[in-house]
Amino acid sequence: MKCKFCDKQAVIKLRAYNLKLCHEHFVEFIEKRVEKTIKKYKLFKKNDRILVGVSGGKDSLNTVYILNKLGYKTEGLYIDLGIGTYSEHSKEKAINFSEKFGMSIHIYEVKKDFGMGITEIARLLRRKPCSVCGVIKRYILNKFAHENGFTVLATGHNLDDETATLFSNVLSWQEGYLARQDILLPQKQEKLVKKVKPLALISERESAAYAILNGIDYIHEECPNAQGATSIFYKSILNQIETKQPSTKLRFYLDFIRRGKKFFESSLQEREEQLKPCEVCGYPTTRKVCQYCSIKNEVQKRRG
Ligand code: SF4
Ligand SMILES: [Zn+2]
Ligand SMILES: [Zn+2]
Repeated sequence: MKCKFCDKQAVIKLRAYNLKLCHEHFVEFIEKRVEKTIKKYKLFKKNDRILVGVSGGKDSLNTVYILNKLGYKTEGLYIDLGIGTYSEHSKEKAINFSEKFGMSIHIYEVKKDFGMGITEIARLLRRKPCSVCGVIKRYILNKFAHENGFTVLATGHNLDDETATLFSNVLSWQEGYLARQDILLPQKQEKLVKKVKPLALISERESAAYAILNGIDYIHEECPNAQGATSIFYKSILNQIETKQPSTKLRFYLDFIRRGKKFFESSLQEREEQLKPCEVCGYPTTRKVCQYCSIKNEVQKRRG
């Protein structure tokens, strides 16, 4: 199997693009594609300060690595969720990455705010860990970015994450979520930092191959709370379709962004109009007290 662009042996076959590429041309292909995404969707510029939410997984570490390589001012924020050995291992990967490549990664501990990790908070409040975790992660990332002068908040969502979410939101016609699903969420409020997904057009397989070929060591184990998640099931269904019809995922996602999303814009506007400062912390929310402060209050009350 020869590379499409040189005489070297191809290391990967990309059926979605009908391409076989060697190590060097595959790395170049991914970086060019990310750069094109940044420019086409106007995600950020060279003078922006970008904070990447780092989990220790391949996608977020790749995001820090690629953006730095492309010359963007990028730092990472690892949130220690306090989920047993999973958090210990993923933190180790983030620290090792930062030391190996000399890229800055800040660490924030959920335990410092709550006195306990996500698993204990969820147990105490009798809520699902992922719903508590989602609220806490989103809040900390935005607040850290805002308070530390970052102009953009990037996450490592890849094409498989994005299409699984889209698929799920379409199945239940979640208008509000559909309105907000995009590669870029612009800054509409002073305290809500612009959010972007530079790897949204890179598949999970491409991302894993890129990390391995660049010596980026990442956490392979899944969070224990992800077991049985519907997103994993939807990803496997979409992969079955992709095997039969290569590039379906890319078309599904891009056609939604280009043609489908506009039908849900009114729900986006409605939500924006409802945003007002949280009575406790002052960050925008559609409630009186934001979800983060409510969780914090509830934890304090129940601990006595
Ligand atoms: S699987 Fe759930 S609990 Fe685990 S990191 Fe993801 S959102 Fe948080
Ligand atoms: Zn080549
Ligand atoms: Zn609040």
